[in-house]
Amino acid sequence: MTFIESFEKKVKETITKHKLADKKEKIIVACSGGKDSCTLLFLLKKFGFNLEALHINLGIGSWSEKNQRNAEKICDEMGVKLNTVYMKDFVGKNISEISENKCRVCSINKRWLLNKKARELGGKKLAMGHNLDDEAESILMNVFRGNIIMGLGTGPKIGILQDKKFVQRIRPLYFCKNTETKKYAEEKGFAFSSEICPCSPDVFRRQIRNWLKKLEVKNSEIKENIVKWFLERLPELRKKYSSKTELKYCSRCGEPSRNEICKRCEVLEKIN
Ligand code: AMP
Ligand code: ZN
Repeated sequence: MTFIESFEKKVKETITKHKLADKKEKIIVACSGGKDSCTLLFLLKKFGFNLEALHINLGIGSWSEKNQRNAEKICDEMGVKLNTVYMKDFVGKNISEISENKCRVCSINKRWLLNKKARELGGKKLAMGHNLDDEAESILMNVFRGNIIMGLGTGPKIGILQDKKFVQRIRPLYFCKNTETKKYAEEKGFAFSSEICPCSPDVFRRQIRNWLKKLEVKNSEIKENIVKWFLERLPELRKKYSSKTELKYCSRCGEPSRNEICKRCEVLEKIN
């Protein structure tokens, strides 16, 4: 089996084994224009799913412009309708104009906006391009921060809280390594930019990433093992903590929230 065939087989098996989606429901692909989401969009289309794409222009100068062009190119080539929204229209500023905690403001708003737009577009699933490396790093970050509840929504199908206003997030590339996705995207000739976001230092994630890279030299399975270990324990942890994750609606924006006011409305108040 060639690399391309085994990569596609792995993604297909993830979708089937974890019952991520069926062909009748509409999937909204969160397409940043990076290698992961271009690969994801290409494969879901190849497998015959019913898709639309959603891109958020974050307003980070030429970096955002390049990513938007790459998202437009793959959607155009694959015949997938692309919906583009501008973060500025929802935050009041471009991300580059925010002075403090850019990364946090950006990620909280991205998640809020992807869910809201995917729902408005009639999506039954929201497909995200996270890969195995992202997940291994997130698990360790949550462990080191003592953040048990934050990690409970993880997995190829995300979310422990179900609600009519939540579009179920799925991650078909969940078991694919970063290096594998990159190789696939390169071999397929997708236009993508490997430039990291100019305003994202996310120091803690990078420390963990570098640490895992060193450990991986002697144990090539280390990321798979972290993720497998966590997934094994997930059902038991969810059972134990489920009563602590009650859902409400934000009194300002009406979106689902764990508190009276959602995190997104909280950060908006601080920056405006
Ligand atoms: P990140 O949080 O940048 O590692 O991205 C993880 C996943 O979130 C990507 O693979 C995409 O599916 C989605 N995503 C990130 N940024 C955007 C964006 N600007 N527009 C649409 N989807 C995005
Ligand atoms: Zn809110």
